[in-house]
Amino acid sequence: MSRAGLDAIFSPTSIAVIGASRHRAKIGYAVLRNLIVNEYQGTLYPVNPKATSIHGIRTYPSVLAIPDPVDLAIISVPAEVALAAVEECGKKGVPGLVVITAGFREVGGAGIEREERLLALCRQYRMTMIGPNCMGVINTDPEVRMDATFAPTPPLRGDISLVSQSGALGIAILDHAKSLGIGFAKFCSLGNKAQVSLNDLLAMWQGDEQTKTILAYIENFGNPVNFVRIARDVTKRKPIIAVKSGRSEAGSRAAVSHTGSLGGSDLAAEAVFNQTGVLRANSIEELFDDAMAFSLQPLPRGNRVAVVSDAGGPAIMCVDELVAQGLRLAELDAGTVEFMRTWAPPEASLRNPIDLTPQASLDDYRRALDAVLRDEAVDAAIAIYVPPVRVDEVEVARAIWQTAAQRGKPVLCNFLGRTEESPGFAELVKHSVPSYLFPESAARALGGMYRYATYRAREDGETRTFPVDRRRAAGVLRRAQDEGRARLRDAEALDVLDAYGIRIARSRFVADVDTLPAAAKDIGYPVVLKATGPGLVHKTDLRAVILDVRTENDLLQGATQVRDRLREARTAFDGYVVQEFVRGGKEVILGMTRDKVYGPFLVFGLGGIYVEYLKDVAFGLPPLTDRDARRMIESIRTYPLLEGVRGEPPSDVDALVDAVLRLSQLVLDFESIQEIDLNPVVALRRGDGYRAVDARIVLGPDVKPPHPPGPEEGAHSSIQTPSGSTT
Ligand code: ADP
Ligand code: MG
Repeated sequence: MSRAGLDAIFSPTSIAVIGASRHRAKIGYAVLRNLIVNEYQGTLYPVNPKATSIHGIRTYPSVLAIPDPVDLAIISVPAEVALAAVEECGKKGVPGLVVITAGFREVGGAGIEREERLLALCRQYRMTMIGPNCMGVINTDPEVRMDATFAPTPPLRGDISLVSQSGALGIAILDHAKSLGIGFAKFCSLGNKAQVSLNDLLAMWQGDEQTKTILAYIENFGNPVNFVRIARDVTKRKPIIAVKSGRSEAGSRAAVSHTGSLGGSDLAAEAVFNQTGVLRANSIEELFDDAMAFSLQPLPRGNRVAVVSDAGGPAIMCVDELVAQGLRLAELDAGTVEFMRTWAPPEASLRNPIDLTPQASLDDYRRALDAVLRDEAVDAAIAIYVPPVRVDEVEVARAIWQTAAQRGKPVLCNFLGRTEESPGFAELVKHSVPSYLFPESAARALGGMYRYATYRAREDGETRTFPVDRRRAAGVLRRAQDEGRARLRDAEALDVLDAYGIRIARSRFVADVDTLPAAAKDIGYPVVLKATGPGLVHKTDLRAVILDVRTENDLLQGATQVRDRLREARTAFDGYVVQEFVRGGKEVILGMTRDKVYGPFLVFGLGGIYVEYLKDVAFGLPPLTDRDARRMIESIRTYPLLEGVRGEPPSDVDALVDAVLRLSQLVLDFESIQEIDLNPVVALRRGDGYRAVDARIVLGPDVKPPHPPGPEEGAHSSIQTPSGSTT
C-alpha cells in the first residue's frame, strides 16, 4: 500500500472498468454508467473482450490493450477470472485497484486462498488495492467527480468523508444523507480490507483538505494499536464519528463471519474510543445527527447552553438530555433577561430554558435567540420550535438561520415533529443549521460536539519508560514457562511487579510454620497471614487470610487455623505468606487482560471485593500517556471517593497513575503475560503511595505443556499439593 497508490485511486486521471457491461443487471454496467452520468473528469476505458463499445465508448479486450497509462482499474469480473485481470493490471503498471468482485475471504475455503493470491499480486506489482468484495469509491471534488460505485444515486458534494466496512450500509448512509441535504467529499467501501485498511484511509483523510469530518462504519479495527495511534492524530485535526457494530456478543459473531476477520470485545472498543477522541454514535441515526451538527456548525467553546423555545415540554426534555450529556444550562446575564422582558409576552418564562409560549411572535423568537447568543455566558444554543399552524415554518427557519449565522456560536434546531421532507427543515439545513425531529437529538449532538471540543483542547501527555529490572522479571516468567506453569506463584507474581517498580506490601513467603515467627518479626507486627499455593485462588472464601495479627502467639494459632480450614475444604497449599498489614487506605483493583484482537488492555476500578458487582471500571490500551492513565482513573463513577468524601484525606492518585504506567510497560514488554489481577491495591493517602497486597499473573496459552511436579513442589508442606501446574 502506498500513498501514491491511494491518490491514484481517489483522484485518477484515467480509469479502466474491467468487466464493463451492456447488461443492466451487471455491476460493470452500473459502475461505468455512474462514472459517465456523474461526469467523471478523466478518461474512461471500458474493458470487455466481447464488446467493441459500451455506452458509446470504445472498449478494449484487455487492460493491456489500452494505449495510454491507467491510474485506476475497477474490477467487477467474476472471481474466477479476477486474478488474471489483476495480473494484467500489474503488467500494465496500474497503480490503483478497486476490486468489487466478491468470492474471496468472506466465503471461506478456496476464497481465502484466492484472496492471498490477489494480495500477492498486489505486492508483486506494487499495486494499492481497495477491497475485494467492496462497493467502490467516490470523490465529489469538481476536478475529479468520480462515482465509481454501483449505487443508485450519487451523493451531494460536501465536506464529510465516509469510510464503511459494509458497502450496502455505506450506500444507504449516502442515500439518506442526501435526503437530509448532507453532502460528501469522499466515500470508500472497504470490503474485505485485504490491503487498504480503515487506518490507511484515516491517515490519508487526516491531510485531505476537502475532508472536514470523517464518518466511519466499523465492524472491527483491524490493527487496534495502529488505529489508536492514527485516530488519535486525526482527531486532533478533524472529528471522527464512528458507528461500531458488534456490541452484543451475537453481533460480534455475525461481524466475524461477515468480513471474515475477528471482531473483538466491546469493552475494549469503548476504551479505544475514549482514548482516541473518536466519537461513538450508538446507531446510524445518531451518526447522522452528529454528522449534521459537526459539518454545519462551529464547535462550542464551552458547555453553557441556552434553550429558546415556544413551548415548555420539549424545552424540559431538552434540558434533561443536555445535563445527561455533561452540558450545563447557561446562567443568563441579568441584562439579557431584562432586555427580553421589555418585549416578551407576559406569559413567557425568561430564565433559561426560555419558553416564549405560543403567544410570542416570530419577531420575539428571533430577538430572543439573538439576545442569548450575544450573551457572554452562553456557548451554544438550541432553538426549539413547535410550528403553530398560523406561522409559515419557512419564515421561522429563515429567522433562525439568519440569527445563528451572525454570532459564530453553534445553534442546533428542533422543529418539533418536522422531518427532512418539511420545507422548514430543508431551509435550515440548506443554511447550515442542523435540524432534528426531537429536542433530545439536538441536545445529544451538541453534547458530542462539546466532548470533541474538549478532547481536542486537551494535552496528550507523555509516554514514559521507567528504568526497570526487566531481566529479573524475564527470569521469573521463563522459569514458570519452562516448568509449564500458566499461573505464577504468589511470590513470583509479586517479584515481577517489584521488578517493575510497582509497590507491593512487604511480604515473606515461608514453607513451614517454624519459620513464621522470624518472618513476622522481620516484617514487623501487625502482620497479615495468608496461605499460598498454586491451587489457591479466592483465599478469603476459604478463610485463609487473617488480618491484623499482632503477636507471635496469634500468628502460630492463625497458621494452625488456616491449615485446618484448608484441610477441611480439601484445598492444597504449600506455604504461608506473612505480609505487612496495610492500614488506612482505599482498595482499588488494577489489572490487564489480553484480548485476541485488541492486545493488552488495562483495567482500573475501585472497590476491592465488590468490583465485580459494581462494574465501575475504566479501560486503557497501552501504550498509555500519563494523561491517559490519569483520565482512566478519573473516569470511574466512584472517583470522588478517591478524592476523599466527608473529610477523608485524598488518596495518592499520582502514585496510582505511576502504577498504571508501569503496568502498561510490563505488559508491553512481555507478550507472554495473558492476565494480571492486582486485587486489591491499597491506595494510601496522598504522599504515601499504595501497596499491592494480592497479585495474580497468568501466562498465555503458548506456555509449554505442563510436566509432572518437580521435587521441590509440595515437599515441605504438611499438606501435599496435587500438582505444580494450575491454570
Ligand atoms: P483473596 O483475594 O484471595 O481473597 P487477598 O490477599 O486479596 O485474598 O486478601 C483478601 C482481603 O484482605 C483483601 O481484599 C484486603 O481487603 C485484605 N488484605 C489482604 N492483604 C492485606 C494486607 N497486607 N494489608 C491489608 N489488608 C489486606
Ligand atoms: Mg484479592
